[in-house]
Amino acid sequence: EGGSETHLVQLASVGQIAAGIAHEVKNPLTAVRGFLQLLQEEHNQEYLKIAQSELNNALMTIENLLQVSKPDLDNEPFQLIKIAVELESLISLFQDQMYRVSIEKRLLDGDVTIYGKRNQIKKALFNLLKNAFEAIPGQGTVKVEHYVEQDYVVIIIEDTGVGISQQKLSMLGTPFFTTKVDGTGMGLTQVYSVVHEHKGFIEVHSSENRGTAFIIKLPKESNREYAGVTNLNVEYEDDQ
Ligand code: ADP
Ligand code: MG
Repeated sequence: EGGSETHLVQLASVGQIAAGIAHEVKNPLTAVRGFLQLLQEEHNQEYLKIAQSELNNALMTIENLLQVSKPDLDNEPFQLIKIAVELESLISLFQDQMYRVSIEKRLLDGDVTIYGKRNQIKKALFNLLKNAFEAIPGQGTVKVEHYVEQDYVVIIIEDTGVGISQQKLSMLGTPFFTTKVDGTGMGLTQVYSVVHEHKGFIEVHSSENRGTAFIIKLPKESNREYAGVTNLNVEYEDDQ
């Protein structure tokens, strides 16, 4: 039975992340080893093709992983981002869902800004919204809210969807963790990575059969302080 209590969790540990990657790369590589073994015994074009295709799968997995774990790869400059503006435009991308899901917006219409990588932040917010809509099987509500709390901009994306079991909560953020038939399990990994890069925090509250709330806190930056600064990448060192 789904618990009615709300859980607060930390996202995936390094160990879980490593396990997720290892699992995803191990399968194709094991297949490659098997087919190389067969090739040693018998020259067969088919074996060669399978080995090549499995090797490609492993490389693609690693490529996907690098893209989310190293959002800096494209070296996007930091800039001022108006959160309300971005949220409004992202929400409008889900227009085709509005016949079944109603949107409740509580957005500050002022100039609340964060300083960050705009495309990466947009991608993260999009991933959270997409998950919220996907969590609702029929009719429901997605609530999008943001406010300022001390030095942080708090963004809440909440749905009335299926919720997440306590056991699965600890898997969130692990690369390739998905419960969807066509899921990639890379969405939250991207979110986690970007929020971390921006020195922010994530909280998840979920309750099975009731819904889930993702709470993102990103450092607020004042216009004045950063006016004229075009790139602060130097402040973000790689702590891997
Ligand atoms: P994907 O959406 O491709 O499955 P994600 O990394 O975005 O990958 O999400 C991983 C898993 O976390 C989902 O498969 C789902 O089980 C769970 N999840 C994420 N967001 C929600 C949500 N809002 N409600 C319920 N489950 C969620
Ligand atoms: Mg997703």
